Amino acid sequence: MSGPGFARVAFIGIGLIGSSLARVMIRDKLAGSIIACARREETLAAVKRLGLADEVTSDPARAVSGADLVVIATPLSTYVDIGRQIAGSLKPGAIVTDVGSVKGAVIRDLAPLLPPGVHLVPGHPVAGTEHSGPENGFAEMFIDRWCILTPLPQTDAGALDKVTALWQAAGMKIVTMDAEHHDRVLAITSHLPHLIAYTIVGTATDLEESLKSEVIKFSAGGFRDFTRIAASDPVMWRDVFLNNREAVLDMLQRFNEDLTALQRAIRWGEGDKLQDLFTRTRAIRRSIIEAKQA
Ligand code: NAP
Repeated sequence: MSGPGFARVAFIGIGLIGSSLARVMIRDKLAGSIIACARREETLAAVKRLGLADEVTSDPARAVSGADLVVIATPLSTYVDIGRQIAGSLKPGAIVTDVGSVKGAVIRDLAPLLPPGVHLVPGHPVAGTEHSGPENGFAEMFIDRWCILTPLPQTDAGALDKVTALWQAAGMKIVTMDAEHHDRVLAITSHLPHLIAYTIVGTATDLEESLKSEVIKFSAGGFRDFTRIAASDPVMWRDVFLNNREAVLDMLQRFNEDLTALQRAIRWGEGDKLQDLFTRTRAIRRSIIEAKQA
């Protein structure tokens, strides 16, 4: 098949993100056949019921056998095991791509395991929701969002073109950058906000009972938005922090310094400092809306 199409596609992991891409491929007839791999029977049954794959299996090696495109869409902590299991069954010339939220660790874990002649194109569709599982996927998830590809210097140009065309077919805008840069950018735009949300909701959870019930009752005042983010998948986010440790710790250090400065401004009644910052941040929100990323 030419363009974004592939004769045989294997999804290793078919939850929120994997199933959304599978839905795009089915809708646009981009795959001759799709085989989906997951661990649990319930997931494989849901994939069949939803018609997301022609075949299902719990064996990653069987899934990738004969596949032209392999999409890894599992939590980051599974990559080494999966890499070891699939390495011997990958077809020469196959493209292996992924959707993981951290890219340096993916290259570290996966690249050494893949046989020569198999093309690794690491990717991160910057789209999603706080939900998990194949039932919650939807084909429109990627429209007008950015997909970051982090090819290695030796990545085959043809393989990169095919993965680019696939995400473009899903409606995404594509940018390529090196993995380290990706991980620093995402540390501030995604990973730190999740850490802050988990912290605030955790702090509220630890409050004494009387206050806690009022937190729930009056949650519209900002807390509710944090609870949505803090409802994201615990395993996925555990893996993100463990696999992007340096960049997250660096951004956290800066954040702590800025928070201390705000604490000081409040203590000393420096209203102009607070207002200046809040005015600047309001402008950032407007520019995100103008860039249609809100
Ligand atoms: P998800 O909905 O929880 O789905 C994960 C899938 O991986 C499930 O099908 C699960 O199968 C399967 N799986 C887990 N361990 C496996 C193993 N050892 N072998 C085979 N399959 C396994 O997760 P998701 O939200 O789609 O996230 C998947 C990846 O996308 C993560 O790396 C994440 O960083 C990245 N990502 C997520 C978002 C987001 O907003 N959620 C956005 C961009 C990128 P079972 O159900 O059988 O366990």
